[in-house]
Amino acid sequence: MKLIFATGNPGKLREAQEILGEGFELVTPARMGITEDIPETADTLQGNSLQKAEYLYERTGCDCFADDTGLEVDLLGGAPGVHTARYAGESKDFGANMDKLLREMALREREAAVARTYGFHTPGVDRKARFRSVVTLILGGKPHFFEGVMEGRIALRRSGKGGFGYDPVFIPDAYPGQTAADITEEQKNEISHRGNALRAMAAFLHEGKS
Ligand code: IMP
Repeated sequence: MKLIFATGNPGKLREAQEILGEGFELVTPARMGITEDIPETADTLQGNSLQKAEYLYERTGCDCFADDTGLEVDLLGGAPGVHTARYAGESKDFGANMDKLLREMALREREAAVARTYGFHTPGVDRKARFRSVVTLILGGKPHFFEGVMEGRIALRRSGKGGFGYDPVFIPDAYPGQTAADITEEQKNEISHRGNALRAMAAFLHEGKS
């Protein structure tokens, strides 16, 4: 079965192909002649993943899927959330995004420490965070949604050379003491938000085939 996946990232393509298995042929938008950036202007992860999947479906008429991911940090009230890719600006610079995140957290922690010295109770001052992915699959013109989460905490500083995006500052609960950039790609794929959302989609697709 052929499915278009709204990505130009070879790592994501490999991950999705491994999870879906041999019965599925994944095709990139570029291979279908779609080379422009696919718009993602909605204000939720589900809205963005639907927008991207619909963009492909309207232009190709083929079954397709798209994902959208956000990092939710408790201390920042769930930010950067849907703004994760552009947290520090339109350039989507990973280094600048991580620097801004660590700065914002240090600021909030200092504010909480000051509040405590004045005797205020400051609940929930910890570094808990999670990545959340929403995948939209359009099958025969009908959208289906799948969600995946990876729980963890934000590190005090960057560590590790693997992964991408915020991986060097994200410590998954499944690997305490290491960031997502310290573990291998296989270890990360087994526990990742996107992996979990894609596995839910794969289960749905395989159910439909049996
Ligand atoms: P996207 O929806 O996959 O483009 O993800 C939005 C932003 O979230 C990206 O620009 C990355 O900065 C970040 N992100 C997504 N997935 C991951 C991940 O697995 N590790 C670290 N950062 C990620």
